[in-house]
Amino acid sequence: MIQEYQLRVLPEQAASEQSLKQYISREKGLDVRTIRAVRTLKRSIDARQRIIFVNVKVRVFINEEPAEEEFTRTEYPNVEGKRPVIIVGAGPGGLFAALKLIELGLRPVIVERGKNVRERKEDLARISREHKVDPESNYSFGEGGAGAYSDGKLYTRSKKRGNVEKILNVFCQHGASTSILADAHPHIGTDKLPRVIENMRQTILACGGEVHFETRMDALLTEGGKVIGIETNRGETFRGPVILATGHSARDVYRWLFTHHIHMEAKGIAVGVRLEHPSHLIDQIQYHNKNGRGNYLPAAEYSFVQQVDGRGVYSFCMCPGGFVVPAASGPHQLVVNGMSPSNRGTKWSNAGMVVELRPEDVDNPTLQVQAEAFERSAESLTEQLMQTCPAEGSVHPLAVMRFQEKLEQICWQQGNMRQTAPSQRMADFTRKKLSYDLPESSYAPGLVSSPLHFWLPPFISERLSKGFQLFGKSSHGFLTNEAAMIAVETRTSSPVRITRDRDTLQHVTVEGLFPCGEGAGYAGGIVSAGVDGERCAEAAAAYVAANSSKD
Ligand SMILES: Cc1cc2nc3c(=O)[nH]c(=O)nc-3n(C[C@H](O)[C@H](O)[C@H](O)COP(=O)(O)OP(=O)(O)OC[C@H]3O[C@@H](n4cnc5c(N)ncnc54)[C@H](O)[C@@H]3O)c2cc1C
Repeated sequence: MIQEYQLRVLPEQAASEQSLKQYISREKGLDVRTIRAVRTLKRSIDARQRIIFVNVKVRVFINEEPAEEEFTRTEYPNVEGKRPVIIVGAGPGGLFAALKLIELGLRPVIVERGKNVRERKEDLARISREHKVDPESNYSFGEGGAGAYSDGKLYTRSKKRGNVEKILNVFCQHGASTSILADAHPHIGTDKLPRVIENMRQTILACGGEVHFETRMDALLTEGGKVIGIETNRGETFRGPVILATGHSARDVYRWLFTHHIHMEAKGIAVGVRLEHPSHLIDQIQYHNKNGRGNYLPAAEYSFVQQVDGRGVYSFCMCPGGFVVPAASGPHQLVVNGMSPSNRGTKWSNAGMVVELRPEDVDNPTLQVQAEAFERSAESLTEQLMQTCPAEGSVHPLAVMRFQEKLEQICWQQGNMRQTAPSQRMADFTRKKLSYDLPESSYAPGLVSSPLHFWLPPFISERLSKGFQLFGKSSHGFLTNEAAMIAVETRTSSPVRITRDRDTLQHVTVEGLFPCGEGAGYAGGIVSAGVDGERCAEAAAAYVAANSSKD
């Protein structure tokens, strides 16, 4: 017999299958020996009150062995000799597009500028050790894309549950823990993700797909207004319709598209800092317990959002028990991000703390106001930023990207032209005071004390400061000098949208080109990029079918 129960239990009762069996046996009057298995279908932590509960939905197998696999398996046929579709970029968008193409009987040919996910690790270590950023292999570029050395958080605000579940099931089929199907806030962890990504590549190759590493698309090939393939830095060409899944850091791709008149528009992003607290402090605050999280609760998460002077100020991509990482994708840039291992066990918890930035914010009028505020500073950030903006008219498609780029460059200068990140204690920042010293940090390249309140653009720093004060009021202890702000967080989403048709998902004016994932402005995160990859694969398959019937 199989029974499903919705339970509200203490963390220690939810901690293992064995403890759940004991609890269910007691509560439901069952002999524990008859309970063969308990599978958790949904799990969330309710930390609103002093006593923390875990809400779990369980499937209980009584006198019966669980037969089915814990995830839904997708069958991938052999596609050798089938029509090719070119995918540029092996991030989650590109990888899920490739797997979906195989399902649909087409042959994916992936071209990825970076290295495979293992070799890439060496280059990441070099950024911290030698302050050297390889422009082809870094936290953004390489197999797995920006999602590979990340937290692997898999929650999304996407409403299309079916699509999200499919992505999670495909991850499980490739080695992720099935707990991601149950957890309200699932995550894989940076230590586990590379193996999952390798397994996805193995499926693609075993079915007859191709993956070309260290191969950068340098140009699209067009014929009669249609994209018919790509040209690479190795002088090779690959022919077929193109799914362009190059992520939000491929600025050379945006520039190529712009100079070749492929329509794009500027898109809003969010800009700010990484904020790093000792994880025990966040645990104490969120679990209302001076002893922290105890033995059965995970490192605590938080989420803040406030409207400040007409713009959202919010926490972003929180990494409990994680690290702050140097996420630049080229020289002369300093940009930070966060990741965490599967056990979320480090001494720190970090999150992006960002201010919403709209395309019109980097247009001239706002910056002129700031230029006045900064006129005494010879090397003012604002003056430099002004030069990046179009003089008049509508916002230049690359204006937000240039702003982002400039801010990262200025941050690098503030960090002594290394990956040493400018940093300020949180309460010092709100008091506009340079920090005398800095707390211990997970950020491996090191921190340097810097007056962020002074050199961050005021429309960001002033809103951040007000936001921190509001967050500190709602969450006692959060606004503290034990926390370090680490600059600068700019790669929150794509600064550009590569416009595409709503129905065919092709570029609005160029046939055979499918802008995909985060870089095209249609996703923000691993799961939504995966969902978009699948949608682009379906659209490309429809395009191939329509064109082959014309042949
Ligand atoms: C440190 C870090 C932590 C993150 N943590 C999380 C998290 O926990 N959860 C979450 O949901 N999201 C997280 N993100 C964001 C997430 O990784 C991205 O939203 C997601 O990877 C976007 O997927 P994508 O496939 O659209 O693009 P990307 O992952 O950016 O992949 C693009 C790929 O295209 C390749 N490429 C670019 N240009 C070319 C070219 N010209 N030729 C060939 N290849 C090219 C790149 O090398 C890259 O591999 C994190 C990001 C970072 C940097």
